[in-house]
Amino acid sequence: MKTITIAIDGHSSTGKSTVARALAQHLGYVYIDSGAMYRTITLYALEHDMFENGLVKPNLLIEALPGIEVAFEKNELGQNVPHLNGRNCTIEIRQMLISELVSQVAAIPEVREKMVAMQRSFQTQGGVVMDGRDIGSVVFPNADLKLFMTATAEVRAQRRFIEIQESDPSVTYQQVYDNVVARDAMDSSRAVSPLIVADGAVVIDNSEMNQADQFQMILQLAQDRIYNRI
Ligand code: C5P
Repeated sequence: MKTITIAIDGHSSTGKSTVARALAQHLGYVYIDSGAMYRTITLYALEHDMFENGLVKPNLLIEALPGIEVAFEKNELGQNVPHLNGRNCTIEIRQMLISELVSQVAAIPEVREKMVAMQRSFQTQGGVVMDGRDIGSVVFPNADLKLFMTATAEVRAQRRFIEIQESDPSVTYQQVYDNVVARDAMDSSRAVSPLIVADGAVVIDNSEMNQADQFQMILQLAQDRIYNRI
């Protein structure tokens, strides 16, 4: 059976990672959360005092890049989890502070260059599902299936707010809403690899769609390509 490359891009908190992980598990493919890679670099910058008044100092980070190792290691469930210089950083990169700073770091061309090279290396391993902002447009422009996921900012903030409450009850809905809107704006307007609907991408607005229906719809799109039905 043919293996394919699936690129899932879209706005913040649209459930890209959830559907991408489920799809990869179903198909026996590798799943890569490219956002986790930018979050991991942001964690490094934060831990090494590379922000001043909430703004990243790009030159410091660019200089440090060769010494920053971002990797995925399998956990006990067989899932790829992000590591920063050998340390599992899965929990830390989900902090609200990282969400607030990551788009600045992701806008630095040298950071993207390093991450994109690593992301492309995963394609040699067979079927891949990767989610992010530039997967269908830059990382895998020849992906067999490209999706662009979106939903209203209110729906996305509400879903994310409920999720965050479990780990950090001090975060307010307004904070989450503001973050979702600010990240979309920064990710869509940056000079390098902005978030766009890639050529040939199927746009899915899941504001009023449940997860099970969405999964079935996307699985169908993938199978159509795997079995050459389109
Ligand atoms: O996917 P997630 O929301 O975890 O991504 C965090 C941030 O990383 C995004 O808001 C964006 O700034 C950046 N990102 C990116 N390109 C990707 C994936 C994520 O610029 N392919």
